[in-house]
Amino acid sequence: MNDLEFRQQVLDTKSASFCAAKWYNATIWLGSGQTTSCHHPPAHSIDAEEIKTRPSAIHNTVEKKIDRLNMQLGNRPKGCEYCWKIEDMGRDAVSDRVYKSKIYPIEALDEAYTTPHQADVDLRTLEIAFDRTCQFACSYCNPAFSSTWVRDIQRNGPYDSLVSDGRNHFTHAHDSAQLYRFGETNPYSEAFFKWWETDLHRTLQELRITGGEPLMSGETWKLLDWFRTNKGRSTTRLAINTNLGAEVDIDRLLDATKDISLDLYTSMESVGQQAEYIRDGLDYSAWVMNLVRLMECGQLRSLHVMCTVNALCLDTLPNLLTAIMRWKYQYGRDFPSFTLNILRFPSFQSPLVLPDAIKLRHKNQLQEWLDCWGSDPLMHEHERNHVQRLIDYLDIVKTPHSDAFEQPKLHNDFRQFFTQYDQRRGKNFTATFPLLADWYNDLRI
Ligand code: SF4
Repeated sequence: MNDLEFRQQVLDTKSASFCAAKWYNATIWLGSGQTTSCHHPPAHSIDAEEIKTRPSAIHNTVEKKIDRLNMQLGNRPKGCEYCWKIEDMGRDAVSDRVYKSKIYPIEALDEAYTTPHQADVDLRTLEIAFDRTCQFACSYCNPAFSSTWVRDIQRNGPYDSLVSDGRNHFTHAHDSAQLYRFGETNPYSEAFFKWWETDLHRTLQELRITGGEPLMSGETWKLLDWFRTNKGRSTTRLAINTNLGAEVDIDRLLDATKDISLDLYTSMESVGQQAEYIRDGLDYSAWVMNLVRLMECGQLRSLHVMCTVNALCLDTLPNLLTAIMRWKYQYGRDFPSFTLNILRFPSFQSPLVLPDAIKLRHKNQLQEWLDCWGSDPLMHEHERNHVQRLIDYLDIVKTPHSDAFEQPKLHNDFRQFFTQYDQRRGKNFTATFPLLADWYNDLRI
C-alpha cells in the first residue's frame, strides 16, 4: 500500500483527522516540563503534581486527551496545522500524519481509535530532550533549545524590532526551558527514569534522544550506561539526534553503543559556507568527516539526514541531496536517508518569504533534481514524496504558517534579524547568499 492509499484506506476510514501520533508518540522536554505529540504542534506543560503519583502523565496530558477525542470525531486539532496546510494543497498531498501513523501495526491504530479518550496509553515511540546544552546557535533555533543561543541573548541583549515574532523567541533567554539547575532534582527527569524502569523499557519500540546536542548531556550518557549494564532487558530501539559538530566525541559514542542497535539522525539542509551561516557553530567539513566515519564504521543500524527547509537553504539543497545519493551508492540505501521538513517557525525564515521569481527558480532546480534522481532504486518512496511536496509547496502555498502571515512584517523581520545576526555572529549575509543580495538590500526596515 503506498502512502496515499494508506491515508485513504487506513486513516480516513477512521476519521478525516485521525493520526496515531496523538496516542503513541510524544516529544517530551524534561528541562521545561513540556510535551507535544509530534514535533509540529506547539508544546504544552506537563502537570508537575500528577507525575508524582502517575509518571505516565508526562505523556498522557489533558490536552492530548482532548485532541484524541477531536481526532476520533474527525475534527482537526488546531495544533496540527502543519498537516492540515499540506493536505489542503489538494493534489492528493500526503502529510506527516501518514508517516507518523504507518509505523504502527494496523491493530494498534484500530485500538487507538476505539480506546476511550480519557484512558492512559503506553507510548511506542518517544523523542526526549534532557536539556538544552548545545554548542550551535542555528538561525532558526532559539534559546529554548540551545545554551549557545542563551549566551547570545545574555551577552548582546534581545533582537530588536521583530514584529512577527509573537512568541518572542529572540527577545529573552527562555529561563523556563531550564527550570532546574544542574545538580537540582528535576521532577520531570525523575518521572521519566521511573516510568522507564517500570514500563517504558518494555513498551517503547523506539526512544529518540534529542536536545540541545544530546551528546553533550550527562543524562544521555547515563541512559547509554543503562543499556550497557542491563543488556537484554530492553528491546527498545535507540536513536540519537546529533548535530555531528566537530566537538562531538565520536569515539566515545561508538564505544558506548557498540552492543546497541543505534539509529543516528543529524541535521543539515545545505552545503559549505551557506550551511555554516545557517547552522552557526558548524564546521561543514567536520560534519562530513563525522558522517562518513559513522557510515564507514558499519556499527549503526541507519543514518538519517534531517533537512529543515528554510528560506536560505534552497540554493544548495539540491547539492546536498546529490551528495546524499552519492553516499548511498557508496554505503547503502540507508546511509544516509533523508527527510525534508518545511520550517514553520520562525515564520520570517520560511521559504515562502522569498520573492516569486526566486521561489520559481528553486522549484525548477528541485524539479530538475527529481527528474534526474527520482527513479533511482536507492531512493526511498518517502524521500521522493518529500521532494515532490516541497516542489508543490513552493508552487502553491502562498502564505507562511502561523498567525503572523503578513508579508511586509515578515520581510521586515527577515532583514532586521539577519542584520543583527551578522553583527552578533561576525557573518555577512549578502556575501554568503549572492542570489538573495539585491532582494535583501531592497527590503525596507
Ligand atoms: S501535526 Fe500531523 S503528524 Fe503531528 S500529531 Fe498532528 S496530525 Fe499527527
